Amino acid sequence: MRVSEFMAACLTDPEHGYYTTRDPLGARGDFITGPEISQMFGEMLGLWLAQVWADAGAPARFVLAELGPGRGTLMADMLRAARLAPGFTEAAEVWLVETSPVLRRAQAQAVPGARWADRVADLPQDAPLFVVANEFLDALPIRQFLREGALWRERMVGLEGDQLAFGLAPAAADPELDRRFADVADGTLVETCAPAEAVAAELAARGARCLFVDYGDWAGHGDTLQALAGHAPADVLATAGTADLTAHVGFRWIAEAAAPLRADFTTQGVFLERLGITARAQALARGDRADEIAGQHRRLTHPDEMGTLFKVLALTPRGAPQTPGFG
Ligand code: SAH
Repeated sequence: MRVSEFMAACLTDPEHGYYTTRDPLGARGDFITGPEISQMFGEMLGLWLAQVWADAGAPARFVLAELGPGRGTLMADMLRAARLAPGFTEAAEVWLVETSPVLRRAQAQAVPGARWADRVADLPQDAPLFVVANEFLDALPIRQFLREGALWRERMVGLEGDQLAFGLAPAAADPELDRRFADVADGTLVETCAPAEAVAAELAARGARCLFVDYGDWAGHGDTLQALAGHAPADVLATAGTADLTAHVGFRWIAEAAAPLRADFTTQGVFLERLGITARAQALARGDRADEIAGQHRRLTHPDEMGTLFKVLALTPRGAPQTPGFG
């Protein structure tokens, strides 16, 4: 099977999928995310939303959707911060796009009044759409291709005896891969993520205002498929369905798929600093929480931690003002 079929089965199989069967987040889970590290993460994104809503003319009703909301922590923190904008809370109709029944239950606790959709296509069409997603795109199934001269060989997952093993499909021509990866050398592995591009195209068709935060690059290459279990790297094939499985996001392809939306791109560290995370950390750090808050601030923004590996992509309608955090 293709790597994308393997990844989809591991993560979202209705019976055995990793996300279907558990809450993977937190100290006792397999990985931790920005919103679970600190309330400051969601607060800064909430301020971004409040400004973008105001710049859109403060519509009296809008759909505020989060894709892959985990435990609902990010949405809860964003809504609390965005209350600073009078009218925002009343205007927001909160929707969560989530496939996991286990996580839906956690989200219902964290975000009273939320509604759920299985896919972006199921979100209401009759109001302006604002979308936020953190570590959602990295969970969508990728395909991998190895350059062999002028041709490409798709990386496959198969059986060797009774063990899963990687292999390569026969070489084939692929003009779209040629275009995207014109400069990569023979023997280089490249990745594509059609489901992420489909989401971007759908949001563009809706004229949505979106913020995507994830690890990855503008347009990288190399094998980034990785499994994580108990906060440590694990064997991708040996842990099928029991470890988190992700790939780095190629933001350039998301931005291209979202044309004609305008794309702005920066690192998480720079974005959070521009939105005022240092001032917020100072305000929270009074009393005995000083070291804890300083540690959270560092973790979210420092180049040696999440600050540079994680990127932020904003997609907005052409002609709308540039959104906060991008210069
Ligand atoms: N955004 C959260 C959780 C990230 S984990 C945080 O930052 O803490 C990835 C999330 O995406 C989980 O909620 C998972 O259930 C969800 N998810 C994964 N694949 C999905 C899909 N195809 N459609 C909808 N949600 C998906």
